[in-house]
Formats: sequence, structure tokens, C-alpha cells
Amino acid sequence: MTRKLVAGNWKMHGSRAANEPLLATIHQGRPYDCDVAVCAPFPYLAEVALAFAGSELRWGAQDCSSHEQGAYTGEVSAAMLAEFGCRYAIVGHSERRLYHQESDQLVADKAKAALAKGVTPIVCVGESLAQREAGDTETVVKRQLSAVIHTLAHCASEMVVAYEPVWAIGTGRTATPEQAQAVHAVLRAQLRAATAHAERVPILYGGSVKPDNAAALFAQTDIDGGLIGGASLKADDFISICRAAGA
Ligand code: PEP
Repeated sequence: MTRKLVAGNWKMHGSRAANEPLLATIHQGRPYDCDVAVCAPFPYLAEVALAFAGSELRWGAQDCSSHEQGAYTGEVSAAMLAEFGCRYAIVGHSERRLYHQESDQLVADKAKAALAKGVTPIVCVGESLAQREAGDTETVVKRQLSAVIHTLAHCASEMVVAYEPVWAIGTGRTATPEQAQAVHAVLRAQLRAATAHAERVPILYGGSVKPDNAAALFAQTDIDGGLIGGASLKADDFISICRAAGA
């Protein structure tokens, strides 16, 4: 994979006043030598779409329902996202696995629901600190990805994977490039065993990516870009990370 993907995950941050200059600065930073996306909270998606309209910049949601439609108060379906041009939906972020008890199978069902409507799922996998210290990293990420591969079947090569060690998210503690690469290689091998098109699947790294560590992470063979949380809320930092991905 040559062209990298950098996706910002705003989480539950933003306001109309703050979004406008952030989106405008990202837009003004074009062109980027990588694909760039912003995944914003649902109420702001229309604002992101408008700010990026007519450009190559992409945008996405941070979740979607596993259901097609119906009596699921509070849920947002993939069809609704697709209807107005949403490109990505993050599924299985560790914050959703933890705070909303999302199981591997629910995450896989969400990925399937997204793909069925032409929305690319960014499937997050990653181990907790306790799991890493117990030597279970490989088992955990393979189990999480396996549910998605199995559920997507012949469409598995259409997803984006994001390896996000839970201990590195929002903590300022980044996996070393070597630690990240080791897990990415495991995930790539798992994808190769499942699909002839494994090289097409971008495997992003996420977890305290900042302007000063992005280049070293992105230089790794199996790191195809980044999922960026905190730093995606600061235009200059996000743009620096995008530049590092294009270098
Ligand atoms: C994330 O929430 O996906 C993330 C990677 O966060 P941060 O960059 O803040 O660690």
C-alpha cells in the first residue's frame, strides 16, 4: 500500500464555533499526499460535508447501528449515513466496547451493516494494558478481527482496520513503532489468510499519535496511516500528521 490514510476521530468533542475554523484550516492545508478524513459526532456531519464539499477530503461517523431500520431509539443506520455521502463509520472503538459493552459480534454486525450501504467500516481492535502484560495481545486482536472477517466473508477486503492499543489511547503513551509494527504484521497475516486482497486493506495505527511520533510510526511496513484522536482537534497538529503520512 503506498497512499496512506489519516482519519481524525473527534470523539464527543466540538461545537459549531470550534468546528468551523478547524475544518477551514484542514481544507486550506490541501493538497495532502495522503487520504484525509474527519470522523465527527453525528450532529456535525452535515457541517463537515459542507466544509469539504467539492474537495477530495473525506468524512465519516464514529458508529452506526447494526440494524437496517426500525424501533431502535437513538441509533443511526448506515443507510442514513450513506444517504448524504458518508464515506466511513468507525466501529468497535475501544470506548464503545468498554462503555457500551459492544461485543466482537456486534462490532462485526455493524461493519457488515455499514458495508451493505457502501459505507466503509473502520474496524478498531486493540488490547488493554492487562492483556498486553499477560502476553495476550495477539490472541485478543486476532479474536476481534476474526469475528469481522468471518461476518464480512468475501467483502472482508473492503474494510479499514485500526489497531488501537487501549493503553495508548488518550494517555500520551504511544506504542513504539516496533511494537505497533509487530501487531500490524499479525493482522496483515490474518487478513492474507482470509482474502486474496489483504494488501488492499489499510491497517491504521491509533493511540496518542502526535506530530513528533507520526513519521516513525508511518515508516513501518504494515502501518498504512493513522486514526487520530486528540491531535485531530488541533488543526496544526492534524495537518502535520497528514504531512508525515505523505512524506
Ligand atoms: C482514538 O480515540 O481513536 C485515538 C487514537 O485517540 P488519541 O489519539 O487521543 O490517543
